[in-house]
Amino acid sequence: MARVHHVKRSRKDQGKCGKCGDALAKGSAYRHFAPGFRGRKRVRCMKGGCSPRPSDLTGSDKLQRDAIAARNALAAALIEAVGEAGLARALRAVGVFKEGE
Ligand SMILES: [Zn+2]
Repeated sequence: MARVHHVKRSRKDQGKCGKCGDALAKGSAYRHFAPGFRGRKRVRCMKGGCSPRPSDLTGSDKLQRDAIAARNALAAALIEAVGEAGLARALRAVGVFKEGE
């Protein structure tokens, strides 16, 4: 998965945020990333809603489908092994999932 680079003050005009379209003028903060191998550079402003999502950071649809399939298979296997209530208890016990959050 691509790394996201944060720049506090751009040295040149970065064009527009790829999500909301806000202008990223010279001197403004922005972040950039390039999905996949030799992916085209994407720029985003620093607004929370413009954070790159995992799906923005991978250039491969197949990789993403595999990751989702693996996650679903893992969840299904865990639920089969200990039941949904047991899984919730186990996640709480290791601090992954807290009630009331
Ligand atoms: Zn934006």
